[in-house]
Amino acid sequence: MTALHSLLVANRGEIACRILRTAKAMGLASVAVHSRIDRGAQHCQLADARVDLGGESAQDSYLNIPAIIAAAQASGAQAIHPGYGFLSENADFARAVEAAGLVFIGPPAAAIDAMGSKSAAKALMEVAGVPLVPGYHGADQALATFAAAAERIGYPVLLKAAAGGGGKGMKVVQSPDELAEALASAQREAHAAFGDAHMLVEKYLLSPRHVEIQVFADRHGHCLYLNERDCSIQRRHQKVVEEAPAPGLAPELRRRMGEAAVRAAQAVGYVGAGTVEFLLDASGQFFFMEMNTRLQVEHPVTEAITGLDLVAWQIRVARGEALPITQGEVPLHGHAIEVRLYAEDPAHDFLPATGPLALYRESTPGPGRRVDSGVVEGDQVSPFYDPMLGKLIAWGEDREQARLRLLAMLDEFAVGGVRTNLAFLRRIIGHPAFAAAHLDTGFIERHQAELLPAPTPLPPAFWQGAARAWLPGSPSSEEPWSRVDGWRAGLPARVRLHLTCGAQQHALSFEPSSIEAGTPAPPLPSHRRGERLFVKWQGEWLAVQLFDPIAAASSAPVAQGGLSAPMNACVVRVAVEPGQPVEAGALLVVLEAMKMEHSLRAPHAGVIKRIAAEPGERVTEGSVLIELETST
Ligand code: ADP
Repeated sequence: MTALHSLLVANRGEIACRILRTAKAMGLASVAVHSRIDRGAQHCQLADARVDLGGESAQDSYLNIPAIIAAAQASGAQAIHPGYGFLSENADFARAVEAAGLVFIGPPAAAIDAMGSKSAAKALMEVAGVPLVPGYHGADQALATFAAAAERIGYPVLLKAAAGGGGKGMKVVQSPDELAEALASAQREAHAAFGDAHMLVEKYLLSPRHVEIQVFADRHGHCLYLNERDCSIQRRHQKVVEEAPAPGLAPELRRRMGEAAVRAAQAVGYVGAGTVEFLLDASGQFFFMEMNTRLQVEHPVTEAITGLDLVAWQIRVARGEALPITQGEVPLHGHAIEVRLYAEDPAHDFLPATGPLALYRESTPGPGRRVDSGVVEGDQVSPFYDPMLGKLIAWGEDREQARLRLLAMLDEFAVGGVRTNLAFLRRIIGHPAFAAAHLDTGFIERHQAELLPAPTPLPPAFWQGAARAWLPGSPSSEEPWSRVDGWRAGLPARVRLHLTCGAQQHALSFEPSSIEAGTPAPPLPSHRRGERLFVKWQGEWLAVQLFDPIAAASSAPVAQGGLSAPMNACVVRVAVEPGQPVEAGALLVVLEAMKMEHSLRAPHAGVIKRIAAEPGERVTEGSVLIELETST
């Protein structure tokens, strides 16, 4: 048994906070590490001690192995918990931690290595008798080899980076003529993200469910499965909603999947918390995809239905303790659903959003409600790290109770100043097909029209509701009258208000008494923050301001027919030349941001008039890249 009294958390954000809470509850002394810009972050406040790693980028801070080990040694921490992401699945890090005489809270480095490559893991699983998706995962990386494999398994196929994660380096290929371009793009993405362009190809299953098994192993040869999670609600192959248990999963199938997952873990000598991911098809067949050798983002739904603290178990296993229960004693009580709250813009292809969190209010605590977050109002969402702000988790006696609790939590949550997916999440959880548990990985695409309605101009009801919130007596109005034309104390005249919201504006003129009496619009939920009033409209928190003619004059008009960068990014490729005619939807430019490639396509048919970007160039959001003339 290893005595463990102190723990360093080599991570940030919600997961660092979550681990620190358990460390505290277990009486361990805790140490946080942080980058230069995270000095005031929540995880630093929660820890007993903090060490500045310097740097801003992940590379210079949370991925800096020597600096993190030095921080542990300087602060006297005996163990390091890597969280998820960053160094959590880096075998070299696990080795360096142990070489420094510290305890790595995770599996042995050899198990991380074995599962680190999706190709090598598939080869191992084949031997262990775990069913695989048909495909090719060999060493030969020639285009012709992929073409032959794809022919053999049949299109559509899915290209994946062997070193992949987070959907990077992953491309669906519908037909043979798309293969070469898709392979090249996936390889570039994989190389940029992981420094390794090695690919594999799989049969692309149509509308499977993503069902994963939480496993836990101790150092004494025991390995359990702690039920499953259904993570089928995904966007671009990335999880958005997770729940446990998987709706409708028969106990017999749960047992078979659980046992396959335990075989997978035992095949690599696994220790600690791990997750074996499967695709489940409509006929009940399941196929191994990969094993994540760390704590998952979605572990709270498993905690909610089992009543276990998985981080506490990780620490106990690292101390050398045996698992405290047997397979037959693993609880499964009720149902839990989690959503991931991201700073991103659903209206612009979910591009990561950055900036100050001018408004941030979490749902109120209550039975069956859990919020795991790592931010507070006033924090900056920086472009350097993952844009996830936190997770909302609801537990209920049954799925419907959990779903209704989560809806209530989403309704109470308020975030403004930085765009988020809050309203999008609300629409998913409120969707009749979600309520009916019609889950598969095509859910979001299938219900796109309802989940991502096209933006419409703000109607008079919005402006009237916003105007009412500016007026005295409303909880969010602090100094409104001084800013409103035509008002004099005690002598209500006709009031004129000129409001703006994003690019839209509206002038109102009305009798204040009519508004105070509750007409013409019902009050909208709102929060005043400085010059801005955040008004809730159709689930979004929109910033409303008084019209400022000077600011309006200085904001540059968008170039007509110009295609501009939707975010700060690096130009990877320009696919067209000046004078070239293009069809609507033709690929024009490939950008890279947050290690993902984004394709810009022609919004309409036309002729390329000018190209204002070149490969390798860094471009800023809004800068014009291509001018496209409408063909006549
Ligand atoms: P990553 O590690 O990049 O997240 P995964 O291999 O875990 O990639 O796959 C992520 C998601 O992609 C899965 O949950 C599933 O929705 C989809 N996916 C992966 N492989 C297949 C496949 N062969 N057929 C259909 N969908 C797949």
